[in-house]
Amino acid sequence: MTGIHFNWVGGCEIPAVDVAPNINPSDLADCVGEFARADAGQAHEAIAAARAAFPGWSRSTPQQRADLLDRAGTLIHERRAQLGELLAREEGKPLNEATGEVIRAAQIFKFFAGEPLRPGGELMPSVRPGVDVEISHEPVGVIGLITPWNFPIAIPAWKIAPALAFGNCCILKPADLTPGCAHALVAILQEAGAPAGVVNLVMGRGSVVGDALVESPDVDAISFTGSVQTGRAIAARCMQTGKRVQCEMGGKNPLVVLDDADLDTAVSVALNGAFFSTGQRCTASSRLIVTEGVHDAFVDRLRREMLTLRVGHALDPDTQIGPVVDERQLQQDLDYIAIGHAEGAEVIGGSRLDAPTAGFFLQPALLVGTAPGMRVNREEIFGPIASVIRAADDDEALAIANDVEFGLSAGVCTTSLARARRFKRDLEAGMVMVNLPTAGVDYHVPFGGRKGSSIGPREQGGYARQFYSIVKTSYVG
Ligand code: NAP
Repeated sequence: MTGIHFNWVGGCEIPAVDVAPNINPSDLADCVGEFARADAGQAHEAIAAARAAFPGWSRSTPQQRADLLDRAGTLIHERRAQLGELLAREEGKPLNEATGEVIRAAQIFKFFAGEPLRPGGELMPSVRPGVDVEISHEPVGVIGLITPWNFPIAIPAWKIAPALAFGNCCILKPADLTPGCAHALVAILQEAGAPAGVVNLVMGRGSVVGDALVESPDVDAISFTGSVQTGRAIAARCMQTGKRVQCEMGGKNPLVVLDDADLDTAVSVALNGAFFSTGQRCTASSRLIVTEGVHDAFVDRLRREMLTLRVGHALDPDTQIGPVVDERQLQQDLDYIAIGHAEGAEVIGGSRLDAPTAGFFLQPALLVGTAPGMRVNREEIFGPIASVIRAADDDEALAIANDVEFGLSAGVCTTSLARARRFKRDLEAGMVMVNLPTAGVDYHVPFGGRKGSSIGPREQGGYARQFYSIVKTSYVG
């Protein structure tokens, strides 16, 4: 990918007012491309284009919407190798994982291609004689989509696809660190035949472009994924400006390993959930809560297996763990390792690594002997770092698991059906995994959290309708 990549407004690429290089975190000498950065004026142009397109798109037939989404899904799938390489270069996921994320984006478009053909709606008699009541779903309007860098194609896909399926027009504001996949995705939607203005792209700074979307009276709703701090501020401003809002934010996800767990399963689930994707997943297992009887054996096995993980360039086929996304995140990771050490944890791994190319490589870290109140167990780190907390028994493990402000994903490893049922019921999280990593979800079912992790209705699957459409109740006499 070379040359400047421009923003898309009203079906056209618009001139850049500013441009920034997109640097590969595996190799700082590799520039993935130059990407336009919009200003607030261009964000307002995109909003106006979406508004102008809305009357037409909101009245498009289910078949038109289905065809567009289906074509986009086909194109994404056909180009999975090229897009996977782009994703690996700009975000740092190992190529196989990056390609998997691209395939997921294609599957999401295929799923939502079916949604316009499955319209919800009910017709029922009124409590009054001679009156019918009809409940229907209508498009919301113009939706601003603000996305993070860690799933640079899947998250834009799981917001754009339902937005269009339910008849809305949208403006995508991707993370400033990863504009490449967003640009490629919006270009595919244009190629697939999106009418002008139905999908617009404004790459640029959150504080400029994101802010313009949140403040504009011509935007009806905001779907945001990112940090708690940004999400809460956006939600508050959406309330003030009367917008519908959905925020998926951070996590401090517990994986509970009980005495009767199968050790092979527990270690592999912890390894995957905590360290894969460089721990840069909102659903990553960052707290490993292990009961007394299995604690030492589990830590010993996990430590040994963690230290064999191969960290390296995302395009190297031997790499299991790619680089951290940028210098700032790497520094944050190293700071938290130091904080954990100062708080009394034994630190295993966690050194910055050299590689043949200059990049942000970090050896995964296990913090052993931690207490629930430590900062490393309360604040989201967002790196390949997991802490281990020893628990006396099931009751204590459950209490520790729930004692944080977040509630995105939670897991338990056990061979007992009764224990699995109890944890499934009592873990305070939007998603619960039994003998599976806390990260790794399906696309046809709801995704989202509780407590401080989420605001508003769930994303993905059929539940996406709750945010991307508005219910109307009509009475006919
Ligand atoms: P972030 O810093 O909150 O940024 C997310 C998006 O918000 C970016 O596009 C950012 O733009 C934009 N933004 C920043 N300030 C803004 C403002 N004032 N107004 C409007 N938009 C603004 O999060 P991140 O570092 O990209 O992503 C990591 C976080 O995302 C972690 O906390 C992770 O847990 C969370 N996450 C959650 C989920 C989930 O579904 N629950 C999924 C993935 C990630 P810039 O790029 O210009 O800063």
